[in-house]
Amino acid sequence: MAYNPKALEATAFIDHEYITETIKKAKEIAENKEKVQAILEKARDCQGLSFKDVAVLLEVEDESVWQIIFKLAKEIKEKIYGQRIVMFAPLYLSNYCVNECVYCGYCHSNQEMHRIKLTQEEIVQEVKALQDMGHKRLALEVGEDYENAPIEYILESIKSIYGVKHKNGAIRRVNVNIAATTVENYKKLTEAEIGTYILFQETYHKETYEKVHPKGPKHNYNYHTEAMDRAMQGGIDDVGIGVLYGLYDYKYDTVAMLMHAEHLEATYGVGPHTISVPRLKKAGGMELNQFEHLVDDKDFLKIVSILRVAVPYTGIIISTRESQDLRAELLKHGVSQISGGSCTGVGGYSKTQEEKNTSQFQVTDERTLGEIVSFLCENDYIPSFCTACYREGRTGERFMRLAKTGQIGNICQANALITLKEYGSDYASQSLQQTIERLIDKEIEKIPSEKVKQMTESIVTEITSGKRDFRF
Ligand code: SAM
Repeated sequence: MAYNPKALEATAFIDHEYITETIKKAKEIAENKEKVQAILEKARDCQGLSFKDVAVLLEVEDESVWQIIFKLAKEIKEKIYGQRIVMFAPLYLSNYCVNECVYCGYCHSNQEMHRIKLTQEEIVQEVKALQDMGHKRLALEVGEDYENAPIEYILESIKSIYGVKHKNGAIRRVNVNIAATTVENYKKLTEAEIGTYILFQETYHKETYEKVHPKGPKHNYNYHTEAMDRAMQGGIDDVGIGVLYGLYDYKYDTVAMLMHAEHLEATYGVGPHTISVPRLKKAGGMELNQFEHLVDDKDFLKIVSILRVAVPYTGIIISTRESQDLRAELLKHGVSQISGGSCTGVGGYSKTQEEKNTSQFQVTDERTLGEIVSFLCENDYIPSFCTACYREGRTGERFMRLAKTGQIGNICQANALITLKEYGSDYASQSLQQTIERLIDKEIEKIPSEKVKQMTESIVTEITSGKRDFRF
């Protein structure tokens, strides 16, 4: 049967035979310089690439072509995102889990994990601690357990998070990373006004997927892979997908992930809002040497660069799983969102559970949010705490349309500067505040529309005089 991106069954829209065939053909095409050149030309005007094109680029061995791809990724990123980098932090609510994911510290049979679920009062403490750092955007993380952390608990927690107004702080966007669930539950998340619904596929390779998820509801490959379809049917139009690199062959998983993106676009008119690229890290109960497909830094840079040229308008997220140096490098290759000051333990921000082992995996970049903001400013990036699109209803297809026509550029630059100004005024040290002021003065000039530029200047003055929460 021919491959059909609009098919609704996971094994049909992630067609294993078609992926292996595509990769086999790609090896031949990759040796043809003209064909590779044609793919790069297509990417250059930000039209994106198909999974077949991506399969070809992943097979390229010529180092000089890779240098062209890296350069192209940087150019495309700068054209669409300017120097802006969106900031967020994960918030872990509960590490109870009924699954047996062999790579995860939350694995049900991991006896060393101290299991804990935050109360609403503890969540408020966590959110205050995150607000005191300067965060405005969170990714809520919960292990899968319908008794200890049912949907009602998650909905109540989202309400608590949005309800905390501490000093000048506010969480303005809650993205949610919870296990695959029903259309009915996705509708409830839509009503709770979540930002992006995030769920990593881990691996698209069914046989490996079933091996690394031997028990529990997550074992069901089709149910997990079709989650984004149900999310969209439940009214969520910003979804975030990802592969846990290290579980299976990165070429297969990257091609399959883009096949998934094409399926969503073909079926619902909008592809993924974000793509995350977590790499396997040491976690309680597992050793990295158990895994034979670990991805080294060199290949990882290639993956991120290819994703940037393949889906120019999709945010690419890198977490603190990666080191400071590698994150700096990845920013040049297309990453547009990073976490900062993260804790992967439950209750870790307000230090209520500091002594206990509650973490899902080890983080590598341990800098504070202030240190990361400072690093970004010194390297001419604009750390952005903006959440305006989602609050203005610019989501899903509407967001993509504005992004693709370039109309969003004006307001993104302005919103990034406004929210950075708020961060500088409320949370930065004196010297960082000065750095931020200098950056804002310089970057405000780059707002294309004279009218938006003038409005931004007057908002910046209003923030200095104590007013908050402006947006375009
Ligand atoms: N309910 C979600 C679940 O159980 O998948 C909760 C999100 S989980 C907290 C977030 C992601 O962390 C997982 O989807 C997985 O990709 C990643 N993860 C798990 N173990 C990891 C490890 N050892 N190293 C790196 N990432 C890991």
